[in-house]
Amino acid sequence: MTTSKKGRRLLLLLGYRFNKQKVCDITLTTSKRGYPIILMSGYRLNKHKSRGAKIYWKCSTHLKQGCRAVIHTLEDMTVIKCNNVHNH
Ligand SMILES: [Zn+2]
Repeated sequence: MTTSKKGRRLLLLLGYRFNKQKVCDITLTTSKRGYPIILMSGYRLNKHKSRGAKIYWKCSTHLKQGCRAVIHTLEDMTVIKCNNVHNH
């Protein structure tokens, strides 16, 4: 019983991760001003900061509208965290 419960949990977790990654189809591009931006699901995310190999991206409306959508990537643009929930 314990094993099957664990197995089910793992499957759910994997499914969840898979869905999350699916909505994180990102495109790296450059803004008109020459700084790097990410395009995702019609939203624009600006490079916020980088720490070590991690790069933190925030929704372009973060400052004006307080949107809390964020993406963390590695330098090779591998998405390691994706919070693609926007308030607009
Ligand atoms: Zn947003």
